[in-house]
Amino acid sequence: MYPEATVPEKYGLVKRNQQKGRTSRLTNRERDDGQFGGERSKVAALRPKAAAPRYFFRMVEFAPTIMASRKNDFRPQDAAKTLLWCRRICCLCGKKCGAAIEIAHIDRNGPGALDNAIPVCFECHSVIGHYADDHPRGKKFGIEELKKRRNQVYDEQTSSLVPPIDYRISQQNPARTLPGVGFRIHHLGGAHPVRAFVRVTISRGSKRYGPPPTAGHYDGRYGWNLNPGQHISGWFKLRKRWKPLKGEPLRAKVEITVADIYDYRHDLLPVGYILNLGAQDWYAEPCEEEM
Ligand SMILES: [Zn+2]
Repeated sequence: MYPEATVPEKYGLVKRNQQKGRTSRLTNRERDDGQFGGERSKVAALRPKAAAPRYFFRMVEFAPTIMASRKNDFRPQDAAKTLLWCRRICCLCGKKCGAAIEIAHIDRNGPGALDNAIPVCFECHSVIGHYADDHPRGKKFGIEELKKRRNQVYDEQTSSLVPPIDYRISQQNPARTLPGVGFRIHHLGGAHPVRAFVRVTISRGSKRYGPPPTAGHYDGRYGWNLNPGQHISGWFKLRKRWKPLKGEPLRAKVEITVADIYDYRHDLLPVGYILNLGAQDWYAEPCEEEM
């Protein structure tokens, strides 16, 4: 409200006023006592009648307390995401909350991160935070349970934003010659564009080689933008030593994470492939690893 330059001047005014043993504001007459000259007095008389200097002191006194209590607050953009993902439905009791919703920390001492956030109604928030471990009654919500229940609500509320997606690695479509390997991903319809993060893991026997050496397109770092109905063809190259041995075929596991228009990530089930050198192509196989 006041220009910054006036603060020291006002500090002086209050200090002098307190020396006189009074707590009231200075009167216009006192301001006009010649200390600041006529022009400044006119400006002072135009100021709103608020106890600005005392307010200033309070701010200094309480600022560290305010900062300390917010050290693991959620960033506004993250808070907005959680509310979009759950559509303001309580992630514990499923109630439509509207404005009566809060974003709770799953682990009260944990970070202000998306993974530690759960939107809940007022009643459920009190249930999460006030469980007495030393005097247990009932069964409290565990951290893993809270995260899974939250993700369940996020998934239910955003699943309509994820189109069917077809993806595969192949030597035929697009046509590539080994050690080049073709990859194709197809947005099969729906109203919404998405971004797909692709992770390919190459392995042979017990050796796990990891993603092919490309600039982020096949190790999950870059998102492939897919508009409705669009397909994209790409390719990657196998390293020279990545060759099948007798009894140890070369395998590729393809994992896709789809980010919807509100940036919620949906994991599709992984698809496994085995390289058939005779046919010079890949065929699908069940992924042995745990989902
Ligand atoms: Zn609730």
